[in-house]
Amino acid sequence: MTREEHRARRDRIAAQLAGREVEALVVSSLDNVRYLTGFTGSNAILILTPDTAVLFTDGRYTLQVSGETDVQAVIGRKSAWVDAARWLKRKRIRKAGFEAAATTHAAFRSVSRLVEDRVALEPVDGLVEAARMVKSAREVAAIRRSVEINSAAYAGAVARFRHGMTEQELAAELDYQSRLGGASAPAFETIVAAGPRSALPHARPAARPIGSNELLLIDMGALVEGYSSDMTRVLHVGRPSKKARELYAAVREAQEAAVAAIRPGVTAGSVDRVARETLEAHGFGEAFVHSTGHGLGLNVHEPPRLGKGEKTRLEAGMTVTVEPGAYLAGFGGVRIEDTVLVTAAGSEVLTPTGRGFNVI
Ligand code: ZN
Ligand code: ZN
Repeated sequence: MTREEHRARRDRIAAQLAGREVEALVVSSLDNVRYLTGFTGSNAILILTPDTAVLFTDGRYTLQVSGETDVQAVIGRKSAWVDAARWLKRKRIRKAGFEAAATTHAAFRSVSRLVEDRVALEPVDGLVEAARMVKSAREVAAIRRSVEINSAAYAGAVARFRHGMTEQELAAELDYQSRLGGASAPAFETIVAAGPRSALPHARPAARPIGSNELLLIDMGALVEGYSSDMTRVLHVGRPSKKARELYAAVREAQEAAVAAIRPGVTAGSVDRVARETLEAHGFGEAFVHSTGHGLGLNVHEPPRLGKGEKTRLEAGMTVTVEPGAYLAGFGGVRIEDTVLVTAAGSEVLTPTGRGFNVI
């Protein structure tokens, strides 16, 4: 992302402050700080006002901050929160918005104590997250690279699958291939769950060997240039039973129907409904225990949520996952997940990996 792009994003947020009746916004979500400045340090508070931006961090980041952003930086010795609070007081800001969801109670208390009754602090959540939903061309390009690296890592690791391998070993191979391919890290902890454990939607890889006649669920994402991808595929070790094939076919139909329902103007909830009704028609309504998808970008889970009753209308440039699943206790689960770009014409599935039921 360029400095011009970061500046335009800050201007856009600053222009909304008056509407929220605050003179400044204290940005403490690190993803939001990165989005608005390019700074990637682990300690940062950004204060935005209609005419200025100041970034508070510490001495570990002196060099990095000047390389990553042209925003004025204050290098503190204490907590960035303390310096930010003093700045608000000194600048006689009377009312500042802060991100409640990204502020600990301890930080809020120490800031309140420092500013006394001179600065009123108002929770203003979701302002930057709303701007982040629609991606720029550069962001979409980063997500495309992330998706490509992720799918190549998946193919590379699956090709190295050996019978008797444990879930942990396969997860390690997936992560290794992903880093070799150019990811800076996994976008989240890689999920490998075989057999009955695949019925746990967020299983941690276990030391258990993957059996020779089991469903094998892999959910993985790559972090590339700060941007995430997210993909789930289910394979079968050995010949799948009729029940496994039926389960897979139903989830695939729901996933493809939900992808086909995506276009600008539809609500996030309506996409979820399409997936849900398809699974219900196959008798798996009760087995679908989560939402259909989520936005992804700098964070692997960000708005909009493709869930029941969600009113957000999709717009071209949003990147979301579509990942219905069905989980049968004691048997196993199937989830199929792609990273999808909302386009003017409808949608483009970015994930290049096929959706077939692969037998290994
Ligand atoms: Zn996933
Ligand atoms: Zn996901």
